[in-house]
Amino acid sequence: MSAQPERAPAGAKVVPNRIGVEHVAEGEASLRVDDPATDETVAWVPYHGAAEAREAVDAAAAALPGWRARPPGERAYLLRRFAAAMLQQQRQLAVELTREQGKPLAEAMGEIAYAASFIDWSAEEGRRLAGEYQQQAGSDKRMIVMRQALGVVAAITPWNFPAAMITRKLGPALAVGCTAVVKPAEQAPLTALALAELALAVGIPPGVINVVTGDADAIGRAWLDDARVRRLSFTGSTEVGRLLVARAATHLTRLSLELGGLAPLLVFDDADLDAAVRGTIVSKFRNAGQTCICPNRIYVHAAVHDAYVAKLQAAMASLRMGHGLDEGVHIGPLIDDDAVHKVETHVTDARDHGGALVTGGHIVQPRAKLARRFCEPTLITGLTPAMAIAREETFGPVVAVQAFDDEAEALALANDTPYGLAAYAYTRDLARALRVAEGLECGIVGLNDAAVSNAQAPFGGAKASGWGREGGKWGVEEYVDVKYVSIG
Ligand code: ADP
Repeated sequence: MSAQPERAPAGAKVVPNRIGVEHVAEGEASLRVDDPATDETVAWVPYHGAAEAREAVDAAAAALPGWRARPPGERAYLLRRFAAAMLQQQRQLAVELTREQGKPLAEAMGEIAYAASFIDWSAEEGRRLAGEYQQQAGSDKRMIVMRQALGVVAAITPWNFPAAMITRKLGPALAVGCTAVVKPAEQAPLTALALAELALAVGIPPGVINVVTGDADAIGRAWLDDARVRRLSFTGSTEVGRLLVARAATHLTRLSLELGGLAPLLVFDDADLDAAVRGTIVSKFRNAGQTCICPNRIYVHAAVHDAYVAKLQAAMASLRMGHGLDEGVHIGPLIDDDAVHKVETHVTDARDHGGALVTGGHIVQPRAKLARRFCEPTLITGLTPAMAIAREETFGPVVAVQAFDDEAEALALANDTPYGLAAYAYTRDLARALRVAEGLECGIVGLNDAAVSNAQAPFGGAKASGWGREGGKWGVEEYVDVKYVSIG
């Protein structure tokens, strides 16, 4: 990809934006979307800015009264059709997702199903959105508490889950009657545009979902400068999150922020080591380590450290790198050259700080015609708190392990970070499991579980990992305003 606008060559495929009833593609400038595994150009999308961002809000605002007034059951029906259509087109959507993002096709198939599950779950939550009616405690008066759709909401999403990060926001927003403007990441915008067309095809009216691609800063500013946008839900870096917090001051726009993580994974001496290793593989190597809940720091009790490392190394040996559309591939490319640079810097930094490279550590080209953008599954021992890996997300298939002596030390190491999204712990001692779950400063804990995310659960962080929750009934609350009516 190129975040810089270019002129698309004559005859190139420019996938238009969806703004209300319009397919908007005009303009001199476009963004190139490349296959990160090969550097081949997959398609182009418009490089739009503040003007189109405002048009998208116009379209969402125009669609709002009609959508909000629909019976919730009708909205639920349309959302269930949308989810079903995603599943009907699962393979086609997944292939497109792999091409723009790089993850193995099996994972992309899984992401489409996961993305559809947010729409499906939210459809039901929307039908059950209820208020309250009660007598006031100190008088004969009555009170009603209404829960109403916020209005127009904005979503800015990252490239690592091009489908699910959008539906996790759109599902609850649409279910309760909000309309939305969406800006997908420049690296992987095609899935978002495909989903918007699919929503229209199943009968969700024009203007309910609007997608704008282009200048992230200008689009984000335009939405936070527009009082009609009642909430901005953002998934991305803590750095951009901070910027949005400052800009949201203008209209006191509500924010949902799902920001960076730095997940620890704790393995105690009573753990089922095979389960801990399976959990490490699932949570760390999915999406080539490019998820915000990937464990970045593994803390293992000294008594089982060597056994865990040996088992993990053996399990990692079976991970195959390649193009996501090749058969039997587990690890796709890193998303771009900045990502490669970060991973290389973290590995070098770990070695400079005395870490031992057990396996991997190189950026490679797994076969001819692929880009040199694949990171070998990498295992480092001798992690210390001074290392970059212990301080910031690596976003690559790199595991770093440090030994600990007791539970208090493990918890202190795990909590020694400004971030607090996910954490994992493996132990067979129930009391310890609960103590550790209570003591971890984060929003999500996997206890003997590495696949923690689903449509039913509240996903979100503590500390600098963000504000708000997505998923389940908690995700719905982000798109609802509470209004109290006092009745004399
Ligand atoms: P990452 O490091 O994962 O790419 P970013 O925070 O840079 O995370 O990107 C996440 C999303 O935020 C993307 O859609 C990106 O285009 C968008 N973004 C980047 N910079 C800004 C900005 N200044 N204002 C609004 N959105 C932005």
